[in-house]
Amino acid sequence: MSVTTQITQLKTNLPPQVTLVAVSKTKPVELLQEAYNAGQRVFGENYIQEIVAKQPLMPNDVVWHFIGHLQTNKVKYIAPFIHTIQSVDSEKLLTEINKQAQKYKRVITVFLQLHIAQEETKFGLSYAETAILLAKLNEYPHVHIAGLMAMGSNTDNQTQLRNEFAELHTFYKQYPNLPHLCVGMSADYELAIEYGSTMVRLGSSIFGSRQII
Ligand SMILES: *Cc1c(COP(=O)(O)O)cnc(C)c1O
Repeated sequence: MSVTTQITQLKTNLPPQVTLVAVSKTKPVELLQEAYNAGQRVFGENYIQEIVAKQPLMPNDVVWHFIGHLQTNKVKYIAPFIHTIQSVDSEKLLTEINKQAQKYKRVITVFLQLHIAQEETKFGLSYAETAILLAKLNEYPHVHIAGLMAMGSNTDNQTQLRNEFAELHTFYKQYPNLPHLCVGMSADYELAIEYGSTMVRLGSSIFGSRQII
């Protein structure tokens, strides 16, 4: 199915309160443009070099979200244009984003990334670490903390996913000032929405499968 068809169908089928992030990593700009022409504005990328290369080729009103693991020394490359950094997993990174945003006289939206999956390899903060950072928001005037981001375990075990999503949703509900809970990828977004996701990150279900890079 074409990118246009997928975007159109998702826009009609997703609940109105759910924002769609089109995850375009590894995909050529032509496909991003096709999604844009179908009305998509929010795009998520994982790799610094790739987002820096694509950003000038796309229209100005694209809302860029960075969703991959971000090294502190790379923040400067995206600070001039990034709308949201979803993958904030340390105070060190938050401090650097605040500093770079100040340099460009901007406020960058950030989400704190939690580690909720069973896998060792996924990045993210614990619930306790997240609570501590959320209590320090006023120390970072150039960042706007607007949500929580997480990835469920890469598993077919629905019970495990439900447990992970439910625990996260309970935590999120303690913070009514955070507009976004961004959980859910192509394989599990419907379940994530059941557990309160306000934003989903879909790659393969829009653009087709990816080569591993
Ligand atoms: C690649 C990626 C996605 C999209 O994954 P799909 O399974 O293709 O929908 C979502 N979130 C993050 C953090 C990713 O790296």
